[in-house]
Amino acid sequence: MISNHLGNHLRSSDQLREVFAILRCPRCRGPLVAAQPPADGDRPIHCSNRDCKYADHGFPVISRQPVLIDFDDSIFEEKEFLFRNGNSIIPRDDAAARWTTRLSAPMEGRNRVAERYCEKFIHDVKAQSDRPSVLVVGGGAIGSGAERIYSEPTLRVLGTDVYASPNTLVVTDAHRLPFCDNSFDGVWIQAVLEHVLNPDTVVAEIHRVLKPHGVVYADTPFMQQVHEGAYDFTRFTVSGHRWLFRKFEHTASGTVKGAGSALVWSIRYFVRALTGSGRIASSVGLALFWLRYFDGLTRERPNADAASAVFFYGRKSSSEVRPREIVDYYSRQASPV
Ligand SMILES: [Zn+2]
Repeated sequence: MISNHLGNHLRSSDQLREVFAILRCPRCRGPLVAAQPPADGDRPIHCSNRDCKYADHGFPVISRQPVLIDFDDSIFEEKEFLFRNGNSIIPRDDAAARWTTRLSAPMEGRNRVAERYCEKFIHDVKAQSDRPSVLVVGGGAIGSGAERIYSEPTLRVLGTDVYASPNTLVVTDAHRLPFCDNSFDGVWIQAVLEHVLNPDTVVAEIHRVLKPHGVVYADTPFMQQVHEGAYDFTRFTVSGHRWLFRKFEHTASGTVKGAGSALVWSIRYFVRALTGSGRIASSVGLALFWLRYFDGLTRERPNADAASAVFFYGRKSSSEVRPREIVDYYSRQASPV
């Protein structure tokens, strides 16, 4: 596996070969076979299981990245995906080149919780292994606060997303992660679980690919309006998020951004609903950026009830939270903001 955020020069043949050892068919989890190294072309990677559709059908490679998606069981359609050459179905600005992207940074602010837990995440995975392997799910764009993962030289970081970007190495659908069981020391998943149809399935996959006691960090919106249009499905309270990660031992959880941030979102979308203009709404949101500083002044429990986003940090476990325990969990929640 690879530290791949620096782009194409890191996606060398040797590195792809190294990743190949842990890749599996997303449908049957059979080993894959390919011409070495896999090159862009018409489905040069195949499943080794002769009973599997992908033994004959094969998987394409786009921008030197294997596209390991079972399109029969995905919201993405293969023909359309190949037509757009693996690019995101939603217009992206992962390099923050557009002025609207640059303006959204001061409006939304840094994710200080992710930043803090990123340090802990790096510390914890390094305690697991000399050269820890980290999977980033939804890593097409580097999440706010997660930058240190990519600059830490001892980590082997494998970025994945549903589209090919300079930050990814393999294109996947997180409902069927194309990796062996127990492959990673840590999984990082930030602002992704609202965009998947079945979050339970995705979290079960994270559990499967983590090594025993492997570390997970997830942050997910709670009080945020619809973003990314047709590809936005779910929100979580702190308790709902804990239940989602019920097969993980709890280290920390709570509010990522609080009631002030949620209010900015709400006003923006109110203006958008009134005017029909995303541009006017963003301008108003930018003028009200200072409201998010109230996040730090709010009381923990009610702030978590009104949070813009929530997080969970924990470890893969062999036991799970029981239904009655999730009720008690509410009163034990804390907000780190
Ligand atoms: Zn297969």
